[in-house]
Amino acid sequence: MSGTEKNNWLEKVRAMVGREALPPQTAADPVNLPMIRRWCEAMGESDPKYLDGTAAPPAMLFVWTMGHFRAGPGREGGTLLGLDLVEAAGFTSVVATNVEEEYLRELRCGDVLTQRITLDAISEEKKTGLGVGHFVTYRYEFSDQKGEVVGRTLFRVLKFRPPAKTNETAARVDTDTAGVTQPLHPRPAITRDGAFFWEGLNQRKLLVRKCGSCGRLHHPPGPMCPDCNSLEWTTQQCSGRGRIHSFVVVHQPQIPGFQYPLPVALVDLEEGVRIVANLRDIAPGKVRINMPVEVEFVEVGKDFVIPAFRERQAG
Ligand code: ZN
Repeated sequence: MSGTEKNNWLEKVRAMVGREALPPQTAADPVNLPMIRRWCEAMGESDPKYLDGTAAPPAMLFVWTMGHFRAGPGREGGTLLGLDLVEAAGFTSVVATNVEEEYLRELRCGDVLTQRITLDAISEEKKTGLGVGHFVTYRYEFSDQKGEVVGRTLFRVLKFRPPAKTNETAARVDTDTAGVTQPLHPRPAITRDGAFFWEGLNQRKLLVRKCGSCGRLHHPPGPMCPDCNSLEWTTQQCSGRGRIHSFVVVHQPQIPGFQYPLPVALVDLEEGVRIVANLRDIAPGKVRINMPVEVEFVEVGKDFVIPAFRERQAG
């Protein structure tokens, strides 16, 4: 994109600042006790003044005028003003949003809120760890049935351009024996506390942390014994045998380097600790809780090995 084109779209968005970003929206229902109680239950809020309907939790501000998940009559959502131009310029991705809220008065049952949204700002192009992008900010204003403003929200979103595949990304592949190019398995995050575990795997040993004071075994490894707080520790080699305590079969999201559907199990090792690992050579539909399994050391990179489990004949 040339500099002129770039300025064109950015200037267009800048010219929209201060304008309405979506038509005003009045809540379908007034502030009400059943919704407050549901929200409090979900959020773990137990203040009696909310549960008896004296007031609504301020953090519910957004709830009353919230849009619908599905379009339909009276449910036209629409795109916030300016976002289509930002996306057309290639800034299609979002990783996080940021919300600042201001509560001007407590809401009570019966209040009917209306929200008005204006485009507040668009930043210069920023370089972020994810790629270049722009912060786009919207100002939400909530007023009651008398037109009194009861709260405000600043909603900021970073729209960034996903980086094109570089040579480095393309190089993260391996060629298998059949000459087929395969994406590499992601490398594990190895910390000082867990380094022994990965070193053990390289030697085809399944090691767990053993407390130097109380002798209990722990996994995953950490700096301190969760039972007696001792910092002393050693390791114990496990047999690699265990049973499936629980499992999931991952379908999405699909990360390069894995094969899907991917059964992942929480395995109770004979020694009494639990470990999470992928399952091998078991059809996802055949996985059962309490199934006996044994460890297999799988070389997934030139210099690292991960544990996986396969079915074992109980004995
Ligand atoms: Zn201990």
